Amino acid sequence: MERSVAELVGGADVESFTAERVVEAMLEALHPDVSLACSFQKEESVLLDMLLEREPKARVFALDTHLLFPETYAVWREVEQRYGIAVEVFEGPSLGRQAAIHGDALWARNPDLCCAIRKVGPLGAALSALRGWITGVRRDQAPGRAATPKLGWDERHELWKASPLADWTDDDVWAYVRERDLPVNPLHERGYASIGCTHCTTPGTGREGRWAGGDKTECGLHA
Ligand code: SF4
Repeated sequence: MERSVAELVGGADVESFTAERVVEAMLEALHPDVSLACSFQKEESVLLDMLLEREPKARVFALDTHLLFPETYAVWREVEQRYGIAVEVFEGPSLGRQAAIHGDALWARNPDLCCAIRKVGPLGAALSALRGWITGVRRDQAPGRAATPKLGWDERHELWKASPLADWTDDDVWAYVRERDLPVNPLHERGYASIGCTHCTTPGTGREGRWAGGDKTECGLHA
């Protein structure tokens, strides 16, 4: 059932909100039943800082595909230490069990199924116990993300979904990261604008380094 954003923010125009105000609105209305989906990219460096500055007990979760870059796991550990938090982890069946059922190198043979097992399924489990989630999606990352609202009802998962950085540019993100001296995934500085699993991510601008050379552009988390 579609729900109006007015329910959550008393009729205010959320599109005029700053990113910080969107984060505050989610916390005020939904904490502790709201969580940040964290993939340890630069957008999450910003959102972790905004969120935990306002609510040190704010919740954060990650989808561990077990195929993330060592640099990503290192930033994961770094932010847990910096903010004194424990990121909640959601994951699919073990790689051994997946290989036994589907064979090796599923990411090459059937990336949609691979993402369904390693990402989309665990996301559903993460969201099932929440009333709202916060994402680092930005409109200029890809044409398919151009209409992303700052806050809306997520019909598929039946909870509120906020993308506080929806109208931020890459430069906006970097300016905030540098001003606050935040931990950031070093792969960005090596040409990876978007960072996912090792098998499916190459350097590139926007999201062109994700599943490069194929038709796939999204893993299904924000479809
Ligand atoms: S990004 Fe690649 S390796 Fe990761 S879950 Fe999707 S298809 Fe599998």
